[in-house]
Amino acid sequence: MPAVVETPLALKRRARRINKELAEKYPYAHAELDFRNPFELVIATVLSAQTTDVLVNQVTKILFAKYPDARAMAEADPAELEAILQPTGFFRAKAKNVLALSTRLVDEFDGEVPGRLEDLVTLPGVGRKTANVVLGNAFGVPGITVDTHFGRLARRFGWTDSEDPVKIEFDVAELFEPRDWTMLSHRVVFHGRRICHARRPACGACPVANWCPSYGTGETDPAKAAKLLKYELAPGQEALLDKLLAETSRAAEIRMESQLELKRSRR
Ligand code: SF4
Repeated sequence: MPAVVETPLALKRRARRINKELAEKYPYAHAELDFRNPFELVIATVLSAQTTDVLVNQVTKILFAKYPDARAMAEADPAELEAILQPTGFFRAKAKNVLALSTRLVDEFDGEVPGRLEDLVTLPGVGRKTANVVLGNAFGVPGITVDTHFGRLARRFGWTDSEDPVKIEFDVAELFEPRDWTMLSHRVVFHGRRICHARRPACGACPVANWCPSYGTGETDPAKAAKLLKYELAPGQEALLDKLLAETSRAAEIRMESQLELKRSRR
């Protein structure tokens, strides 16, 4: 039987349906890196390569207490910086990037993180992915962040057939309104970390199984699939999930307030 070809409109509708279901499943989805301003976010994102956000959050707490802004960081002693960054891996390269990035911010941008993609990607260690994370989360400018989870899920959803992050970003951007891009990115990454894993996706416990052409790639038995879930969805983590759900509206308010505060302070 020939495969049924999905029209662009049907694809768009299905993609939006998936986003809606993910929004209901993860109302608490957010950027998992801790930050209080664009500088902290750009540094944390650079440090997050090849490591976990949890580890980066532990390290940046110490890092920003010692070097709170680009000027302080640009003058950091490289050996001291390396010692702080060591737990994140590739610490020599990361220390070098952080120093070069801070120096460039001081020299070219008056110590401030620029709010435009074309400027951000000129900073050492900052590619499109990092730039979009910073724009979307610290400046409120819509951006699609294509990391390994996002790329894998976009292909499984049939939103793209590309392996190239820039092509994936453009393919997915066609399917959604810009205002949805940033939250979509968080939700898809949350889903990739918790349910739609690289090796064994938990299809039998997946809220978007009805709209996913890759259903069956992983475990379809509901009981077995439930055991594969991670973080707050993992068996035995019901109290954590309840807490996150209860705090969702407050967390959204706090994020909104801090964004407004940030915008005010930059006027
Ligand atoms: S149905 Fe399976 S492949 Fe599709 S999103 Fe869910 S877990 Fe991933």
